[in-house]
Amino acid sequence: MSAVKPAEPASVTEKAPINWVTTLMFAFTTLPLFTVLPWYLWTHDVSGWAWFWGVAFLYANGIGITAGYHRLWAHRSYKAHPILKVGYALFGGMAIQNSILIWASMHRIHHQHVDHVDKDPYSAQRGLWYSHIGWMLRDYPSSELDFENARDLKDDKIVMWQHRNYLALILGMNIGLPVLLGLAYGDLWGFVLITGFLRLVVNHHVTFFINSLAHFWGRQPYTTTNSARDNDFLAFLTYGEGYHNYHHLFQYDYRNGIRWWHYDPTKWLIAACSWLGLAKDLKRVPDFKIKRAMLQAQFERAREKLALSTAANSNRLNELQHLLEQEWQQFSSTVAEWTRLQSEKFDTAKQQLSDKMHERMHEAQAQWEHSEMRQKLVAMERKLEESLELQRQRVQLLRTQMAYA
Ligand SMILES: [Zn+2]
Ligand SMILES: [Zn+2]
Repeated sequence: MSAVKPAEPASVTEKAPINWVTTLMFAFTTLPLFTVLPWYLWTHDVSGWAWFWGVAFLYANGIGITAGYHRLWAHRSYKAHPILKVGYALFGGMAIQNSILIWASMHRIHHQHVDHVDKDPYSAQRGLWYSHIGWMLRDYPSSELDFENARDLKDDKIVMWQHRNYLALILGMNIGLPVLLGLAYGDLWGFVLITGFLRLVVNHHVTFFINSLAHFWGRQPYTTTNSARDNDFLAFLTYGEGYHNYHHLFQYDYRNGIRWWHYDPTKWLIAACSWLGLAKDLKRVPDFKIKRAMLQAQFERAREKLALSTAANSNRLNELQHLLEQEWQQFSSTVAEWTRLQSEKFDTAKQQLSDKMHERMHEAQAQWEHSEMRQKLVAMERKLEESLELQRQRVQLLRTQMAYA
């Protein structure tokens, strides 16, 4: 048997062959912005409508990617009406970020192997440029296609229709639409340059920020196990996808910004669609789990701070350590109580449902929703949530005290 040389990891073979299709596409769409566009703006009056439609398509493309490609197809965080899916397929497709099938399959790999140098297709560990755009300019082994993780998408007729007709779709939407509108408004070149080229390139880079900047710049309130960050400014640019630290921990939540003041237009659109009956089964992570993650991250930080502390006042340090340990004990018992409550809830629901098996299923479900037992369990759950919130504030205070110890 001949000895087989182990394959070199992708990170070592940096000089993968150039992907000419994407490289030329980026060159062809970006070049006019630095040549023809400035000259045209200097010498011609561009109609306000070209800008208006440019912004409208920028948002339509962005939301097509975030609400459609990302939260619906890659993460299945809700179910959408076919009309909505067709809209996402058309306008998300117009963004020229590949077909839904390819995009979502790669994105699932990104989550599964986040930060892995050879497996994550746009690993932040390979640098800002690589995770932003570099990964698309060469045929890296980490971008090899394998739809094993996207069997559900292969069964989706709209996804497959878009995949088969992708080239016609991007040409029709990116050339056809601006040209038609330009002719209708009597400003053909203004529309081609602003609504066509500028809109496309801006949308490219703001979406790419989610893979690049959102893994480098911002806070990590929920987890430090990967490089993803929460960043309000990026959320503003990326149609609400800037709460990326939350998203990497709770990828099945249809929300990325979970507070009412978080800028997440993608979440607002999905919620509005559910009001209109165009979306259903919106998945949300229970508040308790979110608070548990935040507290866990705080405990980790507090322990790190204590371990690094070289304060002269060792009594004070011991005292803080003791307080932190007490908080940890209480945290563990709250979490254990919550877990017990969940299984009790599950068992009682199962029991009540099976008692009513002879009746129609949804009636039994409705009865359970309103049953006294359920109300009681929910109230207990709220109490545990509140106690976690209070504890979060106490641990926060402890960490502030540590800074002065
Ligand atoms: Zn990410
Ligand atoms: Zn994701």
